[in-house]
Amino acid sequence: MDKSLVRPNIAALTPYSCARNEYSGGKVNALLDANENPYNSPLNRYPDPLQRQLKARIASIKGVGAENIFLGNGSDEAIDLCYRVFCRPGIDNVVAIEPTYGMYKVCADINDVEYRPVLLDDHYQIKAEQLLERCDANTKLIWICSPNNPTGNCIDHREILRVVERFKGIVVVDEAYSDFTSKPVMRTEVPRRDNLIVLNTMSKAWGCAAIRLGMAFAEQPIIELFNKVKYPYNVNLLTQEKATEMLDDPYEVVKWVKTILLERERTMEAFSELPQCVKVYPTDANFFLALMRDAQHTYDYLVERGIIVRNRTRVALCHNCLRITIGSKSENAALLAALRQEV
Ligand SMILES: *Cc1c(COP(=O)(O)O)cnc(C)c1O
Repeated sequence: MDKSLVRPNIAALTPYSCARNEYSGGKVNALLDANENPYNSPLNRYPDPLQRQLKARIASIKGVGAENIFLGNGSDEAIDLCYRVFCRPGIDNVVAIEPTYGMYKVCADINDVEYRPVLLDDHYQIKAEQLLERCDANTKLIWICSPNNPTGNCIDHREILRVVERFKGIVVVDEAYSDFTSKPVMRTEVPRRDNLIVLNTMSKAWGCAAIRLGMAFAEQPIIELFNKVKYPYNVNLLTQEKATEMLDDPYEVVKWVKTILLERERTMEAFSELPQCVKVYPTDANFFLALMRDAQHTYDYLVERGIIVRNRTRVALCHNCLRITIGSKSENAALLAALRQEV
């Protein structure tokens, strides 16, 4: 990573030093350094600020080094940290595919960083050149989400690689849905690319949206910057313990993904036959985008029946589209039954 990409105040920052970080090694008889209550174990103790045990598990499952992992309060924390580490408010800008996940723009706005969306083509794809053309000397980040939300498809892997190879700034590839596809992922590129950040989450395939655990994979200099800027105890003990327990049984997740993919095929096929549906778009995720005759009307109709889908009709290139998550068998059946009943 080119050091000049880092905001000068962050490069110069002396981070908060946790009480327990200053102590190293030796036998402990009494922990009297952190003003904790001696009662109510284990909740009385501050959690490991660097989540070492959990990172060791994630490293072996994801095939990356533990030193190449940052853990945050959801991927949203990692998204925000990208801005806070690299982008000077009011000066720098970022480039992103459009349409995509809304948090990249929200975090840009919060951090007062110019956001430059670049429209995907008719197949929801993009050429590296189109993204690079929108960059200038103050472009610090390029955002690529693959499989993309809300379109569902993977962005062409060769084009992503081209962006990483040619862009002088940082490329962030959000692979929140990569567990649902067998297409190549950028996570495996992390040890070779010093300007790449890959995001994963436990909120989707791992079925743990409630515990808030997001991951960023990158070379060590970037991870160290994230660790410097994050809140000291950003991942709480309950989350660290629950995540560790979940990671003990990765085969459960494999089974869920298999079931969801079978349901996806069945649901999409039936959905595409509905009179309200014009077409469904191909997907690599646990949801699909459907072009409707009247998305707003179908959305309202489903809401009345207590079935909530995502209305994307006001999103660029998604006019009259609904985004539909694959649910349980009975939820998917309820969706289809409700729509078949509509006269
Ligand atoms: C759902 C989703 C996430 C997950 O965010 P968390 O904060 O980890 O729950 C990240 N990126 C995209 C594109 C998503 O759709």
